[in-house]
Amino acid sequence: MKLIVLDRDGVINHDSDQYIKNADQWHPIEGSIEAIAKLSKAGFKIVIATNQSGLARELFNEFDLTQIHKKLCHMVEDKGGVIEGIFYCPHLPEDNCDCRKPKIGLLKQIEAEFQCSLSDCYFIGDSLKDIQAAKKAGCIPILVKTGNGESTLEKSTYAELADVAVFKDLAVAADIVLRASEYDDA
Ligand SMILES: [Mg+2]
Ligand SMILES: [Zn+2]
Repeated sequence: MKLIVLDRDGVINHDSDQYIKNADQWHPIEGSIEAIAKLSKAGFKIVIATNQSGLARELFNEFDLTQIHKKLCHMVEDKGGVIEGIFYCPHLPEDNCDCRKPKIGLLKQIEAEFQCSLSDCYFIGDSLKDIQAAKKAGCIPILVKTGNGESTLEKSTYAELADVAVFKDLAVAADIVLRASEYDDA
């Protein structure tokens, strides 16, 4: 199955140390919405896997999160694409749940929902947590330099980023993925 997993904050939208607490604070990174729509129109199922510990911290609630995700989905739909699913971890790091990335609970949920294996699917993120989860699940990890991306590049070891493709942003990553998939289809 052609499925792409995306992290949300720092990949699709500008991140904030103060957390994104409502739809008004949610702003897409330039070109990201168009990139998602392009991938979707090319036949990729777009699924989001995001850590949202702000829920457990009570910085926002499920309603706020739904409003944020409605905004995101509507923007993508306006460009002719569709987001197939948004999977989030609501827990704190110290909750030791199975779903907070770098653990792969969210990826397991996606596999169950879509009845597929994520091995060899692309996973695009901006943090080492994303890359680690991607590798554990057998995905093809892609790091973007937006959000935490630059800092991830700086702080991670050579081994941690081995076999990780790095691109400027989601728009560039999407173009490369599309070119690679045309090559595969040919
Ligand atoms: Mg992120
Ligand atoms: Zn969790």
